[in-house]
Amino acid sequence: MNIILLGPPGAGKGTQARRLVDERGMIQLSTGDMLRAARKSGTEMGKVVAEVMDRGDLVTDEIVIGLIEERLTGDQGAGFIFDGFPRTLAQADALGELLERLGQKLGCVIEMQVDDDALVARIVARSTCAQCGESYNDISKPIPADGKCAVCGGTEFIRRADDNEESLKQRLMEYYKKTSPLIGYYYCKGTLRRVDGLADIDTVAAAIGEVLDRDCG
Ligand code: ADP
Ligand code: ADP
Ligand code: ZN
Repeated sequence: MNIILLGPPGAGKGTQARRLVDERGMIQLSTGDMLRAARKSGTEMGKVVAEVMDRGDLVTDEIVIGLIEERLTGDQGAGFIFDGFPRTLAQADALGELLERLGQKLGCVIEMQVDDDALVARIVARSTCAQCGESYNDISKPIPADGKCAVCGGTEFIRRADDNEESLKQRLMEYYKKTSPLIGYYYCKGTLRRVDGLADIDTVAAAIGEVLDRDCG
């Protein structure tokens, strides 16, 4: 079953996607992670997108659709989790066409509902394990007291260049202008499901599990 996790920056998409990978053998396709990997490896595309990402603007549809297309024909596991994609109506249309061409379906779209004050608080407290990508939060999910990542034992943690108040403001603006129309788009297609993203991480995971088991395609 293929699903989309939809929500503003900091809603908890990445955190929940990783749980679904561990618990259900699904495959996480995060365009944010793919773009950060491209930046790090210094490819031409990585150089082009770096500045756009740091400003908090969206990368072009063409680039992200290309990244997703490359991955859809690979290992499908127990289904794809689209995390941070689609972010525009053009991306949503393109995803629908790609899946249809491959004879695949979109089970459901899970909107993670949060409020804007919570997002700012979460994002300025966010850090990530440099080795395995596990997400931590100074307040809700601190790095273990021994300073080692609970998943891989790594000891280096990074804060994203775009996790500052200024680019976050721009990312939120982009979300409301370009991504939030997808809520109506998928509602009309009958695939939208909502969960309360303000609950604690385990409660959100349980709510998503419930949707997947009972009400998703
Ligand atoms: P967050 O976890 O805060 O929602 P992401 O890691 O998904 O952020 O994305 C980080 C940045 O990468 C975005 O601000 C944007 O510049 C770029 N990006 C990621 N996914 C997309 C996409 N589907 N379309 C356009 N830009 C994207
Ligand atoms: P997104 O991928 O949507 O941008 P993340 O999964 O990276 O969001 O979560 C943003 C930050 O909030 C991280 O530091 C994460 O540990 C924390 N977080 C995620 N879900 C919750 C939750 N339900 N309650 C409190 N903090 C959370
Ligand atoms: Zn780790």
